[in-house]
Amino acid sequence: MRKERRSCLDRPVLALFAAVALLVVCCAATAALAAPPGFDPEAKVLNIFTPLRLKLTAEYSQEHYGTYTADLKQPKMIVLHYTAFHTFDDSYKFFLPPYLDTEERADISSGGLVNVSAHYLVDRDGTIYQLASEDVICRHVIGFNYTAIGIENVGDGADDLTPAQARANAALVNRIVKRHPSIEYLIGHQQYQNSNLPHFKLYLEKDRSYQFTPKQDPGFIFLKRVRKLLRESYGIVLKN
Ligand SMILES: [Zn+2]
Repeated sequence: MRKERRSCLDRPVLALFAAVALLVVCCAATAALAAPPGFDPEAKVLNIFTPLRLKLTAEYSQEHYGTYTADLKQPKMIVLHYTAFHTFDDSYKFFLPPYLDTEERADISSGGLVNVSAHYLVDRDGTIYQLASEDVICRHVIGFNYTAIGIENVGDGADDLTPAQARANAALVNRIVKRHPSIEYLIGHQQYQNSNLPHFKLYLEKDRSYQFTPKQDPGFIFLKRVRKLLRESYGIVLKN
């Protein structure tokens, strides 16, 4: 009799414990799936931004945009690139150091000490790596870094880029636009200095001696592929 009574009392207590345990497991699973602010949930994170690199970035921003900050706020555009390296390792090694290689990049060495980089690096199989939070300024496009998210693609030329990269770029741009409704423009790096295009009204450069360098990446074929996928798969059309 006593035993039976005890088990009746225990049942709701056990049910409560089970419900709490389930809640804890679900919360932990949700937290694991959700990426921290500024990070893409489907990217592999290889954050190259150290405190030193953030300081060098703030110095670059002061010199070129008139504000000492490494913060990228309300980005308005996305710029696609290729790295000019055939392998992921060579591409990643190029972006990793905080300081610009002034011998390798003599063309832009007058522009500041911080190394070039981009927020994302997409491997030839479409794997997306995130090198920087979307809340941080990367040096990848003269005159627009203060407002541009950069996507680099592993490839030593336009012919080296793959359909998997085009699909990954379109899917990533879709997610970035959802996170940042402020984004209006998508361009290829080869378009950045075209003052006839709508994005050019965002151009800002305090150092008038700092000149554009000619760019061919990622090329119009790749850009067209990504735009087509964006339109057909995600219903997204961005100005250039
Ligand atoms: Zn580029």
